[in-house]
Amino acid sequence: MDYKDLANLIFPDVKDISYYEEKYPERNLEEGAIVTRFAPSPTGFVHIGGLYQALVARTIAKKTGGVFFLRVEDTDQKREIENGVTGIVNSLKDFDMAPDEGMITDEKEIGNYGPYKQSLRKEIYQAYAKYMIEQGKAYPCFCSQEELDEIREKQTVAKIRPGYYGVWAKCRNLTVEEMAQKIKNGEKYIVRFKSPGREDRKIKHKDVIKGNVDFPENDQDIVIIKADGLPTYHFAHAIDDHLMRTTHVIRSDEWLSSVPLHLQLFHELGFKAPKYAHISPIMKNDNGNKRKLSKRKDPEAAVSYYKEEGIPVDAVKEYLLNIANSTFENWRRANPDKKIDEFDFQLNKMSVSGALFDMVKLLDIGKIVISKMTAEEVYENALNWAKEYDKELEEMLKNKEYAIHVFGIERGNKKPRKDIAKWSDVKENIEYMYDDKFYEKVKEYPYQVINDKESIEKILKLYIEEYFDENDDKQTWFDKIKELSGRLGYAKEVKEFKENPDKYKAHVGDVSTVLRVALTGRTNTPDMYEIMQVLGKESIIKRFEKAIELL
Ligand code: GLU
Repeated sequence: MDYKDLANLIFPDVKDISYYEEKYPERNLEEGAIVTRFAPSPTGFVHIGGLYQALVARTIAKKTGGVFFLRVEDTDQKREIENGVTGIVNSLKDFDMAPDEGMITDEKEIGNYGPYKQSLRKEIYQAYAKYMIEQGKAYPCFCSQEELDEIREKQTVAKIRPGYYGVWAKCRNLTVEEMAQKIKNGEKYIVRFKSPGREDRKIKHKDVIKGNVDFPENDQDIVIIKADGLPTYHFAHAIDDHLMRTTHVIRSDEWLSSVPLHLQLFHELGFKAPKYAHISPIMKNDNGNKRKLSKRKDPEAAVSYYKEEGIPVDAVKEYLLNIANSTFENWRRANPDKKIDEFDFQLNKMSVSGALFDMVKLLDIGKIVISKMTAEEVYENALNWAKEYDKELEEMLKNKEYAIHVFGIERGNKKPRKDIAKWSDVKENIEYMYDDKFYEKVKEYPYQVINDKESIEKILKLYIEEYFDENDDKQTWFDKIKELSGRLGYAKEVKEFKENPDKYKAHVGDVSTVLRVALTGRTNTPDMYEIMQVLGKESIIKRFEKAIELL
């Protein structure tokens, strides 16, 4: 009996690895093209940190003419959640980051390097596990949970490193005959890697992001095939990223300490190891303490939060690139109108420690992104969001032509309006442009400097009776407000008022505020002339009359 017989006994029906090596050849890509993947487990909602990794991986692949693929790592079937894969696929779609290859629905996939769902790759992993057993680099382990607990306890008492290694690796030294006998007796087993490493030796690793790091060699005989026949993450990673011809493994830095094991696995399998880029987590400032964004505590940790809030997709991506490369901000300043794809993203310039997440900054970017959209684009985005999250807004947007006029206010000029950061802000920002909503909401008018009934009434009445003409151009419109101000004893120019504050009750700006408040119920709005153009004569007069009535 030799290793080969043992391997045949354990995996009688799997193919030879040469089959897979031929089936998944080197990719025919230009020199320098980078192949990356997003490899989430469908065990919970998609975390913003996951989207961040995917964005980085996709950006670098696109930039170099490479490939970005989506692989679903569902080998931990106990932890899998319902619709987990759909959630992942849809999140990428929502952010306009669909992969070049891999899963495109919970069942369908595209690309020649699949299956891209690990649970469908069982026989591939087993073929390589068999190969490892044949080589004497893996072995069946028959230890029960109780035995493993016992080992751990002894190690704890003796204060030595826990794990299944060296002298502690009980099954490692069984003879092939003993192993075969146990299997024939029907004893339960899993398959372990026979690590050639020694803890007292060091390995050097050059991480694309973290730089040079030293580690002790791996000496743990980790499990490679579990009792359910599926691989562990470590083994699947080595097989998949080899066969899928990944050039750069971009993943969370919680895996950095596994690099010695992974490099060893690649080496023992006879594979060329990929480059690794370990990304630091996104952090949050929690009352002065820096901590990881938490799935439990922070709603903004879930990618779905951004969609529900209606934060524009481009704003989220732009913000993430901002924290990914510190040079992004300067680039954006120099190129305010370029698309983010044009940014020269550098994987090796990512920060080594975790970036702080700043919602205020993200919303500022949201405002800028939306300010650059056409009224039509704002309309489409707001409507799409409303359809899913706000029936009332959807209803308001039914009259498309009117809505586009509303969104067109102060848009498309040099200094476009920046009052909308996210689609959920839209309703609040346009409500007063809809008569029924306006009357429903307006209870008290926030008049400012000029706030007595008599003065307000005078201004409004005189304005409607003698000055308002919907056909006036902007200059005439404003000249008339000045004239009206003069007639009622207010300064026609702010400057004039400032020079002689005692001479006047208030100035033209204060008179405008009265008009604005009466018209919109607000002290702060985009350009009043444009607002009036959109509202139209009938609505304007009715609003002024109502304001007088409510004085
Ligand atoms: N399934 C692993 C995880 O979600 C993937 C890590 C990797 O990208 O290799 O953490």
